[in-house]
Amino acid sequence: MNKREFIKSSVLAGMGLTVLGAANASEGKANKKTKGPKHWVWENPDKKENDLILKAKYKSFYDAGIRGMFFEHDSERHFRIAKKAGLETHRWMWTMNRGEKELLENHPEYYAVSRNGDSCADKPPYVGYYRWLCPSKPEVKEYLTQQVKTIVEKDYVDGIHLDYIRYCDVILPVNLWGNYGIEQSKELPEYDFCYCETCRSKYKEKTGVDPLDMEFPDQSPSWRTFRYKQINNIVNHLAEVAHKNKKPITAAVFPTPEIARRIVRQDWTNWNLDGVCPMIYHGFYKEQVSWIGDAVEEGIHFLNGRFPIYAGVFLPDFKSQDELAEGIRTAMANGASGVSLFGKVDEEVLNTLKNIF
Ligand SMILES: [Zn+2]
Repeated sequence: MNKREFIKSSVLAGMGLTVLGAANASEGKANKKTKGPKHWVWENPDKKENDLILKAKYKSFYDAGIRGMFFEHDSERHFRIAKKAGLETHRWMWTMNRGEKELLENHPEYYAVSRNGDSCADKPPYVGYYRWLCPSKPEVKEYLTQQVKTIVEKDYVDGIHLDYIRYCDVILPVNLWGNYGIEQSKELPEYDFCYCETCRSKYKEKTGVDPLDMEFPDQSPSWRTFRYKQINNIVNHLAEVAHKNKKPITAAVFPTPEIARRIVRQDWTNWNLDGVCPMIYHGFYKEQVSWIGDAVEEGIHFLNGRFPIYAGVFLPDFKSQDELAEGIRTAMANGASGVSLFGKVDEEVLNTLKNIF
């Protein structure tokens, strides 16, 4: 299933997908204002688009201030034509959420297990495509390492972009509760991961406690930290792999450091990235456009200049081009180095980008 089909098939789509941005590893610190903004676009390469169409499209992207693409699939033709137009070409990879047949059939033991004891291999939470791997298993780390290596070794790939790099949502963004008929004002066991043998014994080794024996595991700071660290370990290892190949690495993450830790156990301010694209999708959180600036401000504060933020914006959430312009302006005013666009990037959107400063 490709990304567009996801959007049609589930409201969860868009929470993992993003439009992300990245910087060259050599480019240095965040907030370099001298060069102007650097914008990004997520794209699922459409094999039906011919070379002439692609050439014109990527030129129009460049002319509007877009400097990089995140391609969901490997299409050498798209990568090369985009590069010729001056764009950086990054491969967007689903990381912890992986439903490939080969894995499901041969390695069901790689998958994460809920507090109820159900595995994502045969009982995925929320939706059929939620197939989360357990980040604590060395075999999972090795599998992902090989995936990243294969991608970054290609000469037409400028960088790697990690998506779904987290645990399953223990709490969904509030705007989705109605769609699923679930009220998640507390952590429910069927959405709480990972309680597999590996995770439980690793945590017990460290603390003497089996997390399944806790009366209130959602209130245990050390159990939370343990899980942040499992993902941090994967990301920082994949960053080493990318950097060894002299390719930058970026990630699509939840909108603020606090929300990311609380609802998906994602501790992104401790990752060794070259850029990050928080999905500041205001509609998902029933927020206003002005909140995009607040979210960027929080991220910038906790990153303390380690790498740039490109604010991920969800185009369908904006009621007008004026609103979109307002969203981009407030992101930039609060320290974002650009935005990353999720949704249909048409002429109107490009004009908005162009006319913003
Ligand atoms: Zn596990």
